[in-house]
Amino acid sequence: MNINTALVAGLLGGALTLAAASDASAQASLEAGNPIEGAIDFHVHSAPDAFARNISDIDVAELAARRGMRAIVLKNHITMTADRAALVQQVVPDIEVFGGVVLNKAVGGLNPAAVEVMANMSGSRGKVVWLPTRDAQHDIATFHKPGEGIRVVENGQVTPETEAVLAKVKEFDLVLQTGHVSPEETLAVISKAKEMGIDKIAVTHAMADVPGLSIEQMKRAAADGAVLELDFLNHLMGPDAHLEWMQEWSRISISEMADAIKEVGADHFILATDLGQSGNPIHPDGYETLVRGLEAEGISRADIEKMMKDNPARLLGLDGTS
Ligand SMILES: [Zn+2]
Repeated sequence: MNINTALVAGLLGGALTLAAASDASAQASLEAGNPIEGAIDFHVHSAPDAFARNISDIDVAELAARRGMRAIVLKNHITMTADRAALVQQVVPDIEVFGGVVLNKAVGGLNPAAVEVMANMSGSRGKVVWLPTRDAQHDIATFHKPGEGIRVVENGQVTPETEAVLAKVKEFDLVLQTGHVSPEETLAVISKAKEMGIDKIAVTHAMADVPGLSIEQMKRAAADGAVLELDFLNHLMGPDAHLEWMQEWSRISISEMADAIKEVGADHFILATDLGQSGNPIHPDGYETLVRGLEAEGISRADIEKMMKDNPARLLGLDGTS
C-alpha cells in the first residue's frame, strides 16, 4: 500500500488519524514530532459548498488548530469566504482563519464590487482575491468544458475589467491569487499588478494544468515578486487517481515539486493542500504527507519552514515566524 492509498483508505475507513497512524510513515511522524507545527494552508475547501466536501469550515479549523497549524485560508469557487471565516474565527480562536473571493461568474466575474464588499466584511478576515478558476477560459479549454470562459488578458493586454479588480486589490492591500488563467495571462497580470504597486501575489497551484507554468515561467513570475503555490492535491491526480474527476488532471508528484523548488528557490514558494473534496484525505494529513515527501526529496527543514510559515505569513500580514 503506498502512502496515498493508505491516506485514502484511512479516510474511507472513517477513522482518519488512527488509520493513518497505523501506517509506518505516519507512526514515524508521531515519534519524530509534528512536521506541520505552525504551518499555514493557503488553499482549503470545505462545506457548505455546492460541490461535495468532506469537512465543514468549523471542523477543518478545529482539526488544523489541534494539529498545531497557524492559519488556514478558506476558498470557495462560487461564494465569498470572508464572512464565514469571521464566524469560524469566533468559534475556533486557536488558529487564524482567513477568506476571500474567487472572481467566477457566480459573483459577477471580474467584479470590483465583489472585491470591495469582501474587503469590507466585518471581522476583517477577508484577505485574498482569486482571479477566475473554474470559469476561466483557460480552464474551460483545458478540461474541454462547453461555453465561453473569462479572459483576464486580451491581445496581450490586461483587460480594463481586470485592471479595475487589481485597483481594488491595491486599495485594500489584499493578496492577488492568479486562479486558473493561462500561463501567458498569469505572467501579464503579475507584471501589471507589480506595476500598480501590488506586493502580495501568489500563483495558484502554479504547476497544475491550470495555470500550468513551466520552470522558466515560474522563474519569471518569481522575478516579478510573485510566490508560487504548491498543492498536495496535485500529487494525487492523474490517470490512476482514485476519483474519476481527478483523472483529467495531470499528476504533479511531490518529487517534481521538489525539483521545481531546487530550480527556482524556496524563497519563492508557499505550500498548501487544495483538499476538501469528498473522497480525499483531510487537509492536515495531506499537508503532513507533502512536507514529509519534500523532506524525503532532499528539501531542507529550513526551506520547508520558509514555504509553510514565513512566505505565507508575509502575504497574510502575520508577523514573523511562528
Ligand atoms: Zn482549489
